[in-house]
Amino acid sequence: MKTEKGKNPLDSDVIVIGAGGSGLAAAVEASEKGARVIVIEKQRTSGGATPFAEGIVAAESPTQKRMNIEVTRDQLFKNHMDYTQWTLNARLVRALIDKSGETVDWLEKKGLSFTIRGLYGPLPTGKTDPPVVTMRPVFHIPPNWGSGIIKTLLKSCRELGVQISYQTKAEKLLIDKKGAITGLLVSKDGAPQTLHTKNVIIATGGYSSNKEMMRQYCPQYDVSNIDKLNVRKTHPGDRIRWVGQMHNGDGIRMAFDIGAASDGLGILLMNGPNFVAGNHAWMLAMRPAAIRVNREGERFAAENLGPFVSDNATLRQPGQVMFSIFDDELKQNIIKNGFGLISGGKYRHEASGIEQDLEEAVARGSCCISDSWAEIAEWIGATPEKLDAAIKQYNDFCKKGHDDLFAKDVSFLKAIKTPPFYACRSYPGFLVTIGGIKINERMEVLNQDNAPIPGLYAAGITAGGWSGSTYNIGLPGAGCGFPIYGGRIAGGNAADRSLNS
Ligand SMILES: Cc1cc2nc3c(=O)[nH]c(=O)nc-3n(C[C@H](O)[C@H](O)[C@H](O)COP(=O)(O)OP(=O)(O)OC[C@H]3O[C@@H](n4cnc5c(N)ncnc54)[C@H](O)[C@@H]3O)c2cc1C
Repeated sequence: MKTEKGKNPLDSDVIVIGAGGSGLAAAVEASEKGARVIVIEKQRTSGGATPFAEGIVAAESPTQKRMNIEVTRDQLFKNHMDYTQWTLNARLVRALIDKSGETVDWLEKKGLSFTIRGLYGPLPTGKTDPPVVTMRPVFHIPPNWGSGIIKTLLKSCRELGVQISYQTKAEKLLIDKKGAITGLLVSKDGAPQTLHTKNVIIATGGYSSNKEMMRQYCPQYDVSNIDKLNVRKTHPGDRIRWVGQMHNGDGIRMAFDIGAASDGLGILLMNGPNFVAGNHAWMLAMRPAAIRVNREGERFAAENLGPFVSDNATLRQPGQVMFSIFDDELKQNIIKNGFGLISGGKYRHEASGIEQDLEEAVARGSCCISDSWAEIAEWIGATPEKLDAAIKQYNDFCKKGHDDLFAKDVSFLKAIKTPPFYACRSYPGFLVTIGGIKINERMEVLNQDNAPIPGLYAAGITAGGWSGSTYNIGLPGAGCGFPIYGGRIAGGNAADRSLNS
């Protein structure tokens, strides 16, 4: 691999660590500005977690203009800062949002197209839509979701001559006596190599696969849930597995090793409840008309909460376990009428797999079906008296037309009375971790004195300060969009630095 003494063909003006959404966006932007760019990727392929994302949040985009949708950057900014009670780095949030519509334009000019929809289906058309889709129309969906974005960025990399060195793992950042970046230690084919550069962009994703970091930074989450949910061929439980060993917190560790400060560690992009079962059984169990009880047999939240917040309630329960309980009438109703609009229409009116999924869930021990409440209580681990009381109280609320406990939306109040009864065990799940490295609005990594570490940038979920503790449903696609916008900003600034030094 070595060429002349001390030189490595991977030496470059800018080195990007990680070929996911933020890393590739950084590489393309830096290269377009004229810098020589190399991307280091430890996997065999590019993309990271980005292909799993459905779309990106944006305001004042050309897509919105074409669709006569008016959402301003100010509106998005205020929404996010108010939602997070100004706990974030406001300048950073502003910079990311300001880059959003412009990046949609940038990607469209590279051949990608977008459409806009609500989080769970087409844009709301009237007041009768459920409250969960009342957010502003900002969710930009490309064909093939995040894969479409990655494909577009890879095409640009090829055209610009950006080299991606696969199966190359970044190990250590190298600095001079003043703390400025001088290079990067990597391992390739088991051999260590030193790459020389004055500008490194860390875009290595989160740390969800690093149980030690999970325990340290996310004590609110019982890490053993990850193992309970790792069952192949199930949709929700596989999510953490999908990210797999990609997200080991490497970038965060490397930055901390040279004195970077931390920001926003401990944030999980929650997306449960995760029920170890096929999709259709999962969707049935998550119906808001079912009730959710803890292992003591007590309801603990309104069941029509959105996906990002409902797990917060489950995290507070003993053992962080939740049981969804419903009756045969609900099941038959769904089999007959379908699920309605879910996940962009993908599973619309399709419930044919329910019976088979439930059978498999029973075989896996994650579901109990019985005519007897006592048997269900025993399976849950609750006393029959407590579960009976919970069911009776809930059925009384249904009769009365008001949930006196949690004010659940009245349209979902349906008595649970037709046997057999079903109990499905689920755990809180999450997609990725967010946060870690402290950056400013230029994506420069900051040290303990709040000063930039010369030549070091970070973007994506490896960096913090842009997401609150609970994902903001008003900004669907921020989890994927903000990394891409931050990547572009980091790439542009790193390129400027390299060209001006
Ligand atoms: C199932 C799923 C669904 C999702 N859905 C959505 C959604 O609908 N909307 C949304 O906004 N967000 C969604 N997200 C979250 C979103 O995908 C991520 O937040 C986003 O893709 C993160 O981008 P990133 O560039 O920071 O990291 P990634 O895209 O994961 O890139 C990180 C890259 O760094 C590489 N790397 C790590 N360590 C090293 C190292 N030491 N050396 C070299 N390379 C390294 C990794 O292999 C990886 O390729 C979803 C996530 C998942 C898992």
